[in-house]
Amino acid sequence: MTINFGIDLGTTNSAIAKFEHGKVTVFRNPIGQKQTLPSVVALRKERRLVGEKARELLLQAPDLVAASFKRKMGTTDTYQVAGQTYSPVELSAFVLQELKSFVHSGEQFDATIVTIPASFDTIQSNATKEAGYKAGFKEVVLLQEPIAASLAYANQEERGEFEDGKWLVYDLGGGTFDVALVSIEDGEMRILDHEGDNFLGGTDFDREIVEQLVLPYLESMGSFENLLEESRSLDGKYNQLYQSLLLKAENAKVELSVAKVSEIEFTTTDDRGEEIDGFLSITRAQFESILEPFFSKTIGMIGEMFQRNRLSAEEVKFVLMVGGSTYIPYIREEVAKRLRIAVNTEVDPTTAVSVGAAYYAGTKPLQQGNPDEMVGQKAEIQVKMAYLKATQEEKEYFAARFEGPIEGLNYRITRLDGGFDTGLKPVSAKVSEVLPLVKDTYNQFSLKVFDEHNNPVDLNLGTIGITHGKYAVVGQPLPQDICLEVDDVENETTVLEVVFEKNAILPLKKTITKQMTRTIAKGSADRLTISVVEGPGIALPAANQTIGFISISGEDLNRDLVRGSDVEIILEMSESRDLKISAYLLMTDQEYENVFTPSERKVDLFKLKLELNSLAHKVRHEIEDAEDQGNYENAQKMVDLEFDILGLLDRAKKLKDKDTTDEKFQIEDGKRKLAQQVDALTRDKYIIAVKNDYFQEKRDMEAVIETYEAIPEDLRRYDDLLSEEKVILATSSSLRIKDLIKQIQRLKFSIRWKSRRYIRELFASLVYGRFGSFTDQLKAEMLIEQGNKAIEEDNDSQLRVVINQLFELLPPARRTEFYRGGTGIG
Ligand code: ADP
Ligand code: MG
Repeated sequence: MTINFGIDLGTTNSAIAKFEHGKVTVFRNPIGQKQTLPSVVALRKERRLVGEKARELLLQAPDLVAASFKRKMGTTDTYQVAGQTYSPVELSAFVLQELKSFVHSGEQFDATIVTIPASFDTIQSNATKEAGYKAGFKEVVLLQEPIAASLAYANQEERGEFEDGKWLVYDLGGGTFDVALVSIEDGEMRILDHEGDNFLGGTDFDREIVEQLVLPYLESMGSFENLLEESRSLDGKYNQLYQSLLLKAENAKVELSVAKVSEIEFTTTDDRGEEIDGFLSITRAQFESILEPFFSKTIGMIGEMFQRNRLSAEEVKFVLMVGGSTYIPYIREEVAKRLRIAVNTEVDPTTAVSVGAAYYAGTKPLQQGNPDEMVGQKAEIQVKMAYLKATQEEKEYFAARFEGPIEGLNYRITRLDGGFDTGLKPVSAKVSEVLPLVKDTYNQFSLKVFDEHNNPVDLNLGTIGITHGKYAVVGQPLPQDICLEVDDVENETTVLEVVFEKNAILPLKKTITKQMTRTIAKGSADRLTISVVEGPGIALPAANQTIGFISISGEDLNRDLVRGSDVEIILEMSESRDLKISAYLLMTDQEYENVFTPSERKVDLFKLKLELNSLAHKVRHEIEDAEDQGNYENAQKMVDLEFDILGLLDRAKKLKDKDTTDEKFQIEDGKRKLAQQVDALTRDKYIIAVKNDYFQEKRDMEAVIETYEAIPEDLRRYDDLLSEEKVILATSSSLRIKDLIKQIQRLKFSIRWKSRRYIRELFASLVYGRFGSFTDQLKAEMLIEQGNKAIEEDNDSQLRVVINQLFELLPPARRTEFYRGGTGIG
């Protein structure tokens, strides 16, 4: 059994579709027969309205209505609807429930695909899943919208032969913009990369029409004070007018997609109570100049993606247009012009995502009951079947495994249209057949089992359904790096280590072994922290979002967790973005495990301002540095970034703590993007520095090998490390180079540590106070005595123990090698 239902939970519009017998149908709203449902919720006289009715109510009673809540998915922000408080998750659940009622057959279903923007982070994704559970679904599988749109395109009914190649999905809806680079090779579809902005879409155009054209017009017609503020603010004098103007602006905008001019008409009274009859024409040219900056932003993002992938326009076949805003002629024309790639408008921009979701649902097995393969139910005999549910091949390989008393049994596979029959064949533990398929349809086969008397054995196997000519996706890519926060002992700070790279295909699993950077004593209050964050690995840990966290206190330990001992960490992320972290402490033989589905993010205005401030400082510093280096090009670019950062800071400063717009999140989003650009501009500089460090480290290592007579095994390990040098230096990834440096350092330490000469030198420098004085002089003296004795007796292992203990007696500031604070692993 497959999931079959697919839902596009859009910012502005949602839709539901079903896959059945190789075909997809989009359900219609029983009220009004439309294929889409406005994602708007209202409460009126205790009655809940979802969709068109709720949207209309925006005009008369905006305080009873909530809209665009997808933009705040994953935040702690709430909506006031008719005096009651709702979270974005709850409101989304209402929309999902309403969509359920579109399925007129009355068919019960409790599993569905729900689509999300490709740029949704783990928190937003989990919030979406939670909305699904709240709406009563037992199983919710997430699918990225550009994949859905691509599936809708690739699986179109009338589409002819399909060539391998790459294309872009350009999805500009009401609230979000998403672009994805898709490839099809040998019938397999992949998302290679994506970019997006969760705060760019049609509603922004509506707002700008009102704020740039209508409000100035209104001001010229009457007397108003603080018109903009009184309009925007929920309890403002002109908020109701503003809301209705937004709707009128949207209608005008839609009309401008077919007409050259459109009108907005309204009546209101000004501050003095004078009546104003508003009548305003808007030309297509006016609208286009409003659109331009938003549009340019989308082209800029595509440019970045092209650069990142070293891609040229000629390599991309077309741009698939998705989302209601791509009806705008300007967008269609300009995309083609600026990118020099043909636009493709073959799919219905408002239903493509739900259609693709349903195709995906048709290949996705239900989790409850029987997983991937269907399982026979007769107690003694177990049957598992495996086959592809969608294929481009004309024959499909089918396999089944039988367990239990199978002697004397026969099986027979027939195609339900009668075009294929295996005849009776003896059952063995493993059975395989090649099933011929009818082109471009849904093929059904039955597998039946008979006993020695030719009586059917009731195994309840269901049918084998294979769709020919449909595309399936290889897997969903991870939208952002997932990183582990580790100590950078030398610099007494923490840095990120990338565990899963952006665009890796989900689900993912990785085991990493880290060493303790300090000793955590049993019973102490000190802690080992395993912190997993989402965001670019090159960024500072604080710039990213924590999505999972295990904290192990000394009080939990059954013995000391000694510096240098191994911690094994297993990270797993499911296709629907559940994160599982397990940690195993080898030293204490203790295991920790936790599953994280974070679904809320807080944007703290205070912290946001602090971060913007420090980002501004950092950029200033980098600008001066670049100028000193004579790198004026970078300096200029960073001056532009500084301008943007200060602009955001300015906006943040103007915000009130209780601001209800999504500006806070927009600023936060903008901040992260700017920080990434600063990182990108300064990265080369740091990579050169890191490469220098690396060569220094190598020279140092060679000296150590000479001086301390490395043993053959360590020399071999060093050779192994050097064999990776070329590849790693070529990646220009400072993280990977740093990692190589770390490995050399570790090896260097281990070579020295084995050398009698070195430990005696180290002991001497401790004794002569080169590291500073000890915190407990008496204990230190006793240890020094023990150390001297160990030297006399040539007892190296005893001397090592003494050195370790002496180090623990150094004052923290002197103990750079024994850095405390931070996570505890590195
Ligand atoms: P979402 O994916 O955000 O739910 P849609 O893809 O349904 O949104 O697109 C909705 C947006 O498209 C709205 O802002 C709407 O005003 C806009 N839109 C719909 N039709 C047109 C049109 N013909 N011309 C211009 N904009 C349109
Ligand atoms: Mg959409």
